[in-house]
Amino acid sequence: MNPTHNRPYDLFVIGGGINGAAIACDAAGRGLCVALVEMHDFAEGTSSRSSKLIHGGLRYLETYDFKMVREALIEREVLMFKAPHLVWPLRLVLPHVASQRPRWVIRLGLFLYDHLARRNHLPASESVDLHHDAVGRALKPSFRHAFAYSDCRGDDARLVIANLLGAQRHGTEVLPRHEFMGAERTGDLWQICLRNVRTDVGFSVFAKALVNAAGPWVVDVVDKIAGVTTDRQLRMVRGSHIVVPRQWDGEHAYFLQTQDARTMEVFPYEEDFTSIGTTDEPWEEEPAKVEISDKEIDYMLEQVNEFLRRPIRREDIVWSYSGVRPLFEMGSSRDKDLSTLTRDYSFEVDHNPGRAPALIVFGGKLTTHRRLAEHAMQTLCKLLPWPVVGRTDTEILPGGDFGSGGIAGYERDLRDRYPWLPTRQIKRYVRLYGTCAENLIGGSSSLQALGDHFGSDLYQREVDYLIATEWACTVDDIIWRRTKLGLRLSAQGIDRLGSYLGEVGCAGALKPTQSG
Ligand SMILES: Cc1cc2nc3c(=O)[nH]c(=O)nc-3n(C[C@H](O)[C@H](O)[C@H](O)COP(=O)(O)OP(=O)(O)OC[C@H]3O[C@@H](n4cnc5c(N)ncnc54)[C@H](O)[C@@H]3O)c2cc1C
Repeated sequence: MNPTHNRPYDLFVIGGGINGAAIACDAAGRGLCVALVEMHDFAEGTSSRSSKLIHGGLRYLETYDFKMVREALIEREVLMFKAPHLVWPLRLVLPHVASQRPRWVIRLGLFLYDHLARRNHLPASESVDLHHDAVGRALKPSFRHAFAYSDCRGDDARLVIANLLGAQRHGTEVLPRHEFMGAERTGDLWQICLRNVRTDVGFSVFAKALVNAAGPWVVDVVDKIAGVTTDRQLRMVRGSHIVVPRQWDGEHAYFLQTQDARTMEVFPYEEDFTSIGTTDEPWEEEPAKVEISDKEIDYMLEQVNEFLRRPIRREDIVWSYSGVRPLFEMGSSRDKDLSTLTRDYSFEVDHNPGRAPALIVFGGKLTTHRRLAEHAMQTLCKLLPWPVVGRTDTEILPGGDFGSGGIAGYERDLRDRYPWLPTRQIKRYVRLYGTCAENLIGGSSSLQALGDHFGSDLYQREVDYLIATEWACTVDDIIWRRTKLGLRLSAQGIDRLGSYLGEVGCAGALKPTQSG
């Protein structure tokens, strides 16, 4: 961003998680002049630490959140259309536990789940005899009946990048490692103070409207905006996941009812792994410091081992990650069970005629980011003379344009054009970058031409691509958010990657910070 930028932006977005990225993408698609800042790396907050489910949320039916569930169910197929490489169908198997919810309750819930929103591609739910179906093999023989139903899985951090690339395609200025320091109104504009985190240089810009999409930091950001307040109380809830080597063949996941009447999901993860989560624990410290506790690990192992035929041990854990859900309540719900606080989003708008508006985003789910963004823009379009119709429901995100051959056809095409590239590497490129994979490979004609090899299938060419086109800067950006190669690279490979980033002048390339 140019510190002497003297033309005001239409919209200034604070926060480069999924919600800020989606709002910038929607606004820029309406032809607005947009800027977005993120104080860390994109998706470094909650948006790389989710369970990665694109789902209605079966358990939210128990808290009667029908509107939210319906909206989220609809979004599954919208997102599969917009970014089929980043959102894909998932079949979940829910073993019946006699001491928990009765079978008729689950059937009723699944009936609602199947019918609350139209499904064109995802199959309906069904009963499963675990003793005769292959999905029963990973479970203890004491489980006989289950239900199978549909949802989707996605890549949360890459959805953030795809939305930012979409925003950038429409002219948005996208700035990582820039902290929002404060804003005040000057007539019908906001004067916004920023700090470049890498150089510690401050500067200011102007905008006609401000969006606070700072997730768990939303209240801190409100406090920095002169004249804006909120009565909402933030309740931060930690959720953790553990990752172990792959536990079963097949692409299905398990949705488990735990002994304490909660739920837990166990998924195939990154080809060779299984992920287990999540927990709901209060968190009162700085969100960036969140990490898994021993108690959470014990809890997850105990619960999951009630179901799995082959028990998972603590020493099987290869990685873990934790995130903070920013949940909100009004006054009296302080004593509510954390798992029952709504996951829905809401807005507060600070606006008076003739004064620049500010919109604050509270809560939300990964699944509903596009809809949240559309609602946010519809709200602002009532206050400012902006185009009222957005197009994010039909606009494919960068990399998602596979055409009639779909992902399989595109992979075949790449295999024909680059016969020297291992199939597994092609699949990984397509899963992460979609049709942008060919920009990454470029004119290379051999593995050697991809440059230095850091281990697994990470080559210099991909690192350069991530630096040049996806704002990557540190080791963690590359191995935990743009890719999950942290699961496969050796310590030496990670060190060499750090040295390489130092050589090419990426600040902060010195040491990984996320638990690994
Ligand atoms: C354990 C867990 C599991 C979840 N599972 C699911 C799931 O399976 N499906 C689902 O739909 N949802 C899920 N969610 C919810 C989902 O992850 C969140 O709703 C979503 O990621 C929130 O995105 P956000 O953009 O609001 O916040 P964030 O991703 O946290 O983004 C906010 C950004 O604002 C930046 N920021 C803050 N202050 C400033 C400042 N002063 N200047 C500049 N930048 C600033 C932060 O650095 C941060 O990157 C889960 C959440 C958790 C914690």
